[in-house]
Amino acid sequence: MKEEVQKSRILIVDDNAVNIRLLKIILEREGFEVLSTGNGLDAVDLTLKLTPHLVLLDLLMPDVSGMEILRILKLNNVTQSVPVLMVTARTSGEDVKAALEAGAFDYIKKPLDEVEIVARVRSALRHKFHQDKLVEMAMRDSLTGLYNHRLLIELLERELATGRRKQQSVSFCMADIDHFKRINDRFGHQAGDLVLQDVSRLLVSGLRKSDPIGRYGGEEFGLVLTSCSPEKAVGLCERLRGIVAEHPFLIEGEEVHVTLSMGLAHAEPGAEIRETDLIQQADSALYRAKAEGRNRLVS
Ligand code: GH3
Ligand code: MG
Ligand code: MG
Repeated sequence: MKEEVQKSRILIVDDNAVNIRLLKIILEREGFEVLSTGNGLDAVDLTLKLTPHLVLLDLLMPDVSGMEILRILKLNNVTQSVPVLMVTARTSGEDVKAALEAGAFDYIKKPLDEVEIVARVRSALRHKFHQDKLVEMAMRDSLTGLYNHRLLIELLERELATGRRKQQSVSFCMADIDHFKRINDRFGHQAGDLVLQDVSRLLVSGLRKSDPIGRYGGEEFGLVLTSCSPEKAVGLCERLRGIVAEHPFLIEGEEVHVTLSMGLAHAEPGAEIRETDLIQQADSALYRAKAEGRNRLVS
């Protein structure tokens, strides 16, 4: 956490160039990367573009008030998780209350006190990274580190929307380990867990980073293949199936082999298809892959 805080990017929004310079000197001396704008109207765009970990926001600016910017930042899905420190000479209880209620993380009073600024900035950043970690943990399956069921479906929904907009096809692959129960029965549940972790790693390493993969259920994985043709998706899944089938899993000194059955479904470019329907199609294809003898892909 300390290291993350140290490497943080901070955006200063202040119409007064002297204030910016002063804050910059203080924060850069602490090792932070500091970005700035003198124009409040650019604040939201810059927060989206530069993805700072923290925004220092002047309350009183000529074109737009800091409170208005704060409200917009807190309404936007992407920027709402960036903590905002209001920097201002207006320090009545009502001013502070209004800013905190609108979602500001904290309030820094002018004239600026160097020690206090650094302490408040660090405190906000620590809070931010802690929060990010909790969000990340809530999204991931704890055994495999893959996305959990709920998020996988959300990401599929998102990719389908993107695919529709960009006229690109999206494929969904459901992969299920064959006769996994036998591994548990023979070597125990813990060994089974290790196999699940290894299979996850193999799948992740064979996939593009931009393609979401999640643990759909017990020994079932869901793969979202974006912006590739159905033929390419088949090729990719076949490759993954081969990687797993050829991998020697070492359990209690014994080489064990594990295979996957896969069901693949495609959404054509621009197709109006719901994620639940695509999952249903992939599931039916998986069922056929099992019925036709396992260790195969059906699409
Ligand atoms: P099939 O080829 O038809 O898929 O056979 P299978 O044995 O893989 O499928 P089945 O659905 O009969 O059994 C799945 C097994 O996966 C049973 C369950 O105990 C095991 N399993 C599910 N989640 C976990 C887990 O988190 N860890 C371990 N070790 N086993 C799990
Ligand atoms: Mg299975
Ligand atoms: Mg299963």
